[in-house]
Amino acid sequence: MQPLLLRGARLPEGHVRDVLLDPGGGIVARVAPPGRLASGADELDLTGYLLLPAGAEPHAHLDKALTWDRVGAPAGDLLAAVEAWRAYTVQVTEEDVYQRAARTVDELCANGVTAVRTHVDLLTAGGDPLRGLRALLRLRKRLRGRVRLQIAVLHVDAPEKLLHEALDLGADLLGDCPHLSADPAASVARTLRVAAEHHVGVDLHADETLDTDAGDLRLLARTVRERGFGRGVTASHCVSLGAVEPDEAARTAKEVAAAGIGVVALPLTNLYLQGRGHPSRTPRGLTALRALLDAGVRVAAGGDNIRDPFNPVGRADPLETASLLVTAGHLTPDEALDAVTGGARAVLGLPAAGPYEGAVADLLAVRAESVSEVLGVSCPERLVFAGGRLVSRTSVVRELF
Ligand SMILES: [Zn+2]
Repeated sequence: MQPLLLRGARLPEGHVRDVLLDPGGGIVARVAPPGRLASGADELDLTGYLLLPAGAEPHAHLDKALTWDRVGAPAGDLLAAVEAWRAYTVQVTEEDVYQRAARTVDELCANGVTAVRTHVDLLTAGGDPLRGLRALLRLRKRLRGRVRLQIAVLHVDAPEKLLHEALDLGADLLGDCPHLSADPAASVARTLRVAAEHHVGVDLHADETLDTDAGDLRLLARTVRERGFGRGVTASHCVSLGAVEPDEAARTAKEVAAAGIGVVALPLTNLYLQGRGHPSRTPRGLTALRALLDAGVRVAAGGDNIRDPFNPVGRADPLETASLLVTAGHLTPDEALDAVTGGARAVLGLPAAGPYEGAVADLLAVRAESVSEVLGVSCPERLVFAGGRLVSRTSVVRELF
């Protein structure tokens, strides 16, 4: 495959550089001041663009995406959304999941995402419970070389036989939702055991509540430290950690760091679904981002639900998520960008990407001069590279009269 030379791109640190991509190895081969690298390669002029690591979406629900207009969920809280979705699943087919998931990944990819971890429900009502998983396995195969898809099987007290079937079929991780389980501690222990048997990681929906007595995250950290677990462990949501006193948040964050657990913040869905019982002084449904970063925890952020009963909006755009981390989570623009790029890749267990020699050549070029402009404007003019190849380009025509 022909190398690709990106000319005149500005790097996040502010320098303008030429960047040579090697699609054969999928890495960034050279980075040099403008004009120093010999031509002969295919070239793209990126003058006026900021070149960043590509985005990674650490927490999607592709099986649910784009169903808001069919399903809705007028009450707007988590349990109402769960009920609305469950009622709808009776009629969900494999093809329906495939089509909506494929469209959503296209949106994510065009916005700069080259790696996605999606959860998928076991659809125990209305036919084959694995039809959602089968659709996503098909999509994972079709996306190869453009978007890397990781599939986590999400369950609440599902029969163990079904978990084994799902993992045998090819799911990448085992999920769980302990706060909806009849016995959270037993559920976490079983999920870790079954995942270990299949040599896959786990990704839990943990503490998706403002209830400060919720303890999924502490339970997970303690169980992992006591019993050990050889694969990646991720805790998503962790909302209640943002509602407890700072000392307690710091203590829990230290335990999470010691257990090697990555945490995924999900501002869109949590800001939408949480806090409905507090019409004034409404709490923010965000995890304790600063305490986690201070403790050295790997932190990622994702878009979660995209236009489904759990969230009627969402642009499938990592820059939207990052912008919310600045506004509602009080991270700096650089920290917020890292949570949807490098931090997210680390939580997904992927090697570092970015415009640096030897890094994976998964890149996002956005028309902007600086990181704060990237997040502030969220310009749709973007080029996306996966493994050193151009996989998406969005151009915009704007006319002011
Ligand atoms: Zn979720």
